[in-house]
This record gives sequence, C-alpha cells and structure tokens, in this order.
Amino acid sequence: MKLNIQDTFSKELQCDAILENTPRQVKNACFSYVTPKSTANPSLIHTSKEMVDALGLSTEEALLNDFISVFTGNKVLPNMEPYAMCYGGHQFGNWAGQLGDGRAINLGEVVHNSKRWAIQLKGAGATPYSRTADGLAVLRSSIREYLCSEAMHHLGIPTTSALSLSLTGDEVLRDVLYNGNPAYEKGAVVSRLAPTFIRFGNFEIFAANNDLKNLKQLVDYTIKHFFTEIKTTGKDAYVEFFKQITAFSLDMVIHWQRVGFVHGVMNTDNMSILGLTIDYGPYGWLEDYDPGWTPNTTDRQNKRYRYGNQPKVVQWNLFKLANALFPLIEDAAPLEAILEAYASDLELKKLEMMRSKLGLLKLDQDDVILIQELEENLQLVETDMTLFYRNLANITKGNQNEAIEEIKAAFYKEEELKNSVLEKWNTWLTKYLKRLKKETISDTERKCEMNLVNPKYVLRNYMAQLAIEEADKGNYELLNELFTMLKKPYDEQPKYQKWFAKRPDWARDKVGCSMLSCSS
Ligand code: AMP
Ligand code: MG
Repeated sequence: MKLNIQDTFSKELQCDAILENTPRQVKNACFSYVTPKSTANPSLIHTSKEMVDALGLSTEEALLNDFISVFTGNKVLPNMEPYAMCYGGHQFGNWAGQLGDGRAINLGEVVHNSKRWAIQLKGAGATPYSRTADGLAVLRSSIREYLCSEAMHHLGIPTTSALSLSLTGDEVLRDVLYNGNPAYEKGAVVSRLAPTFIRFGNFEIFAANNDLKNLKQLVDYTIKHFFTEIKTTGKDAYVEFFKQITAFSLDMVIHWQRVGFVHGVMNTDNMSILGLTIDYGPYGWLEDYDPGWTPNTTDRQNKRYRYGNQPKVVQWNLFKLANALFPLIEDAAPLEAILEAYASDLELKKLEMMRSKLGLLKLDQDDVILIQELEENLQLVETDMTLFYRNLANITKGNQNEAIEEIKAAFYKEEELKNSVLEKWNTWLTKYLKRLKKETISDTERKCEMNLVNPKYVLRNYMAQLAIEEADKGNYELLNELFTMLKKPYDEQPKYQKWFAKRPDWARDKVGCSMLSCSS
C-alpha cells in the first residue's frame, strides 16, 4: 500500500525524550512516539470511499489485508512513525491538567492532490496519556463516531472524517452507566482524518506549564501550515490567528444550532483549532425542541453543555484559548475585542441562520421577534425540531387555514395542540404568513431554499442505537443503510421515508438513545 507520507507535526515540533509507554506527565514536548497495540483478529466493517480516495488509495487497495492491518494498528508501514499528542484542557469548567491522546494514535500525515490529511486511529491502545484507562474503544462508541462524522460532513458542517471502522477481535470491559456493572463489549478501531487534530488544549498545556518556547513553536507551526492567509508576523499574526479561530468556531456552532446537534462534551480538549467538530462521544440530536437538553448523563446536574448553551460555551472556550496565547501577545486589549465581537457576531449569524431556516430572504426588523416567538412556541409542548422545520416549507402563502395542518406531524402528542397552545401557534402562523407575503419568491422556490438548510434526515439518537444493536449481532445492514441515507440529508429519498418520523416511544428514556455516558 502506497501512501505519500509527509510528516510535519512530528518533524517540526518537540518530541518527548522518553520512549517508555507508561502513563506519566510529559514535559516540554508536543508528542510522544508510541506503537499501536496488536489485536487478536482484525476485520473491516466499513470504509468511506470518499476518504479512501482522499488518501490516494484505490477501492481495491482498501480491501486488502494491508489496509486492514495498517488501519487497525497491526502493521506500521516503513515510513510511518506513530505518535500520541500532548494536550491539556478545561473539563466542565475546570482546568484538568494534562490529558492528551489517551486512546488516539497518529499514524502520520499524507499529502494527496495538494491536500494534507493527518491520520488517527481511535482505540488502538494505550499511550503515555492514557492515565488510568486502557486506550481502547468499543464497537458501540466507534459506530457512533463513524456514522455521525459522516452525517455531519454531508450536512455541510466542518468535521473530522472517518476513514474506516474495524473490529479488533478483542473484548473490552466497560461499565456503561458507571454503576458497578461492567461487561465485555466488542473492541473496535475507527481511523479518522483531518488536516490536523490540534486542539485548544495543545496550546493550553504549554501556557499552564509556562513553557513559552514550545507554545511559540506550536503557534508558529499551526499558522505556517493551516492559517496560510495570515501574512503578518509576530504579535499581529498571533492576534489574527486568534481572530480566525474565533470565526471558525462560531461558524461551527451556528451549524450545530441549525441542525440540532448537541456535542455533549465541549471541553477545551475537544475544540479543534480549525473549528472542526471533533471527538464524537455522548453527543445527541434534538428531537423534542428543548434548549435545556443534554444527552450526556455526566452533565445531567448542571447541563453546562445543553443545546441552548453551546454558543456561549464556545466563547468561554475561546476565552481560555486567549489566556493560553496571551504570553505571546502580552496585550489583552485585542484579544478582549475579539471575544466581545464574538457576542455580537453570534447574534447576527444566528439571525441569518434562523432567517434561512424560515425561508426569509429579505431583511425585516421584526424578524427578531418572529424568531423569538417561534422559539417560545416550540417549547410549549413536545415538538420535533427536524419534522417541524422540514414541514414548515410546505406552507403556502395563501393558505392560512391549512398552515397548522402542515406542521401538525411535528407534535409528539397531537392532542396537546389545543386551547392556548393552538391559539399561540395560530397567532404565530398568521404572523409568519403575513411576513412571507413580503417575499418575492414563489412558495416552490422558498421550499427549495428551506430544504437546503433544514435537513430531512439526521442521525436520530435511536437510529444509531438500532444500528449498534444489530452490528453487535454481526449484522451491518442497518449501519450500511444509515451510512447511505445520511449522505443526502437534504434530499427527499422516498425509500427512507420511515426515518423521517418522530422518535418512537420506546426510545424516550432508553440508554443509548436519550442517555449517553462518556464510556467509550
Ligand atoms: P473525551 O472528552 O472523551 O474526548 O476524552 C477525554 C480524555 O480522556 C482524553 O485525553 C482521552 O484521550 C482520554 N480517554 C478517554 N477514554 C479513554 C480510554 N479508553 N483510554 C485512554 N484514554 C481515554
Ligand atoms: Mg477528547
């Protein structure tokens, strides 16, 4: 198998002087060399053709033993020097010290068609950053990462991309609910790609350790390779760097809000420096529109990472990154200005995004109120976000009486749509229809526009769970079906109509559907 490996991260940055692969504090280094763990009986479940192409490999090559061995960590190609990255992070609002790639191993960087792809294996064994854990991953969490990163990509949302999903043939012990009931699950490895996997936490660890030499080297490296539009140098370049990261991160979270994606663990170690959605753990998709919802059981008390709080958390995380960059800039004012601008930009971008969801192309100052009232209405009774927006596009300007019929299917209990609830919806729909009359485009054109931003198919929590339960029995049909369907989330795809439906009742409180733990 030929891969055009051209490492820069490990070649240009400081490596850990110690080679021993035991859990420890790594000082003054960006990464540690490690060897992935051999597995009992590796077998391929799925590959992404698009990502196989991206690496310059053929479909045939992706089926060979060599491919399976390399992308499960069982074979290291002669020019590969695998390593784990050192980073820290703020977890749930507190500085957690060194974290690092505890269950991720970088195989290196491949350049193909002028694009650079860093390759990571998730679940290929322990590293110096594994702390007390095993460095492994189970099939359940690997399927969740595999399917969701694919779904996000096709929704047009910046994300890391999965290349392959494999079984290791080993069993892995996990206590899913952290309640003293561990059980063996099938071990798995996901290989994934991104231009770089650098996170906010890679910078934070050096600032925390007062290691300004490595901090500067890492910032200069990141700008040189991934922020090539920055033409200034010195402090100006660092300020511009932070400004661009802020813009990327805002763009990412606005997309999340648009489709109802809740990341679940927005710690600073899970914030990509490129604004990519990264580390799919206990994430979830809003079914009932509830800004207070988080899928992560670990966060049940404070709900720090609830849907409605995600844009604010991004700002908080950016603030932590600004602190980490400060020693290189030594002037708080420009960093503060960027963070303040984030708040106003957020309002503008959110308004723009919501307008597009409602099919409003013209500017109207009353839209802010219209949107606010919509968000209040969506919370009156259990209402499915995806169904609501998709069906809203069916409303026609001249048909006030039937408007409510078009959106009815989004209500979990249609019988709740009465009295004051019904009244509020009718009032809102009247306003919305009046507003639509100010638009010059036809109903059909508006529907087309809205269908480009309001997906018909998202990875509902129970869908991933069903695919996992089948895959656990060795049946990958549903996994394949979802993978195919999620490639075209905005298309009608009549043969998949059954997935355009409210969450079934059995999934309401089921583990894996509405409750997820970090156990992976
Ligand atoms: P997360 O927030 O799930 O992305 O992970 C937080 C930290 O825990 C990261 O440093 C991970 O590498 C580490 N971690 C999570 N699961 C494992 C595991 N099974 N083995 C080793 N490290 C892990
Ligand atoms: Mg992580």
